[in-house]
Amino acid sequence: MALVVQKFGGTSLADADRIRHVAERVTENHTAGNRVVVVVSAMGETTDELIGLAGNVSERAHPREMDMLLTAGERISMALVAMAIEDYGVPAVSFTGSQAGILTTSVHGKAEIVDITPFRVRDALDEGKVVIVAGFQGVSPDSKDVTTLGRGGSDATAVALAAALGANVCEIYTDVDGIFTADPRLVAAARKLDEISYEEMLEYAGAGAGVLMPRSVEYALRHDIPIHVRSSFHDGVGTWVKEETMEEPAVRGVAHDDAETKLTIHGMPDRPGVAAALFEEIAEAGVNVDMIIQNVSIDGFGDISFTVPAEAADAARKAAEGAAQAVGASSVDVDDDLAKISVVGAGMKTETGIAARVFRILSDAGINIEMISTSAIRVSCLVRAADAENAVRALHEGFVEVVS
Ligand code: ADP
Ligand code: ASP
Ligand code: MG
Repeated sequence: MALVVQKFGGTSLADADRIRHVAERVTENHTAGNRVVVVVSAMGETTDELIGLAGNVSERAHPREMDMLLTAGERISMALVAMAIEDYGVPAVSFTGSQAGILTTSVHGKAEIVDITPFRVRDALDEGKVVIVAGFQGVSPDSKDVTTLGRGGSDATAVALAAALGANVCEIYTDVDGIFTADPRLVAAARKLDEISYEEMLEYAGAGAGVLMPRSVEYALRHDIPIHVRSSFHDGVGTWVKEETMEEPAVRGVAHDDAETKLTIHGMPDRPGVAAALFEEIAEAGVNVDMIIQNVSIDGFGDISFTVPAEAADAARKAAEGAAQAVGASSVDVDDDLAKISVVGAGMKTETGIAARVFRILSDAGINIEMISTSAIRVSCLVRAADAENAVRALHEGFVEVVS
């Protein structure tokens, strides 16, 4: 008897009809003889609406209360899905993240799962029930408070739970047919991939392919849990994320991320220890730095630019201003009218010239590159936000539509 974890995203649960449809799919799986754990997101745009509501009520919503508020979204879904499944004559029970034993760090808004003790989930499965777990949330054993895992966190709940329960597969049901060679909402010619490796998907998700939360791929890689990303609207096969793939194209897909902010510190003295002082301050503020570029120094002074996720821009600016003052730099500039475009593919490890082709394609499209970063299987360029769509389409055309 297989154990399957099925996660349904917000769009798939947007209204009563869709919830009944989800219940029907889950019931079919249970009736076929599988043990089924369902992880749910909040309905439709609920999380965004709750964030908006908090903003209307309070200028500086307390992180603990924010998590109390946001976890309610998934709690609504879990109860409704359980009711709908029971209506099909299948026993079902819903659990919050805390009841399901999802133990996390105590950082509100971006907690990490540290352990899963799914006793109640296992007991309910043994009783023949379908178990519905609220995604995106857990509880901190240290603070005893409820936490959330960051946007898109239900994906992480699903994969981590699949690993803890020893599930055969984690199915992620969403509003597109699978993982595409680019965001299908942006590039009409984007193709659905049959498969992609964990390593590639980790880079792809990290570069902005929002169909999976990067941390969920990290769990899948660590525990070797195959993920099947597929449509919640029909039965067709989606995309498998797994250890190894048949082919390794140089470029598997093109991603974009318009939530990067660039900070530039002007007039940094050119002496040892200055960059260390700056980035120690940034690290102290808990901000993850992505790209970094240091310009040539003239008369002993130069500029350093770096990018951070948009949501961390304020914290990064404060830290950078503090560091700039401490080392005697002249000023700090913030620019958020940018987007990062990336090409990702494991075949890049052996095929040379991919970066050169990226730069040529962008240049032919008249797009200026402001910053560049690479990994063994990714080339990323920072461009003006207004150029982002053209850049993605041009790179998709150059690498994916034209098979070289
Ligand atoms: P869910 O609510 O089901 O978690 P998300 O909105 O988080 O859904 O993720 C699905 C969305 O991811 C799609 O609607 C699509 O616009 C976007 N997306 C971005 N890049 C890709 C990609 N490469 N392949 C598929 N979808 C992508
Ligand atoms: N509801 C949460 C969000 O919108 C978690 C999720 O959907 O995965 O980010
Ligand atoms: Mg999602």
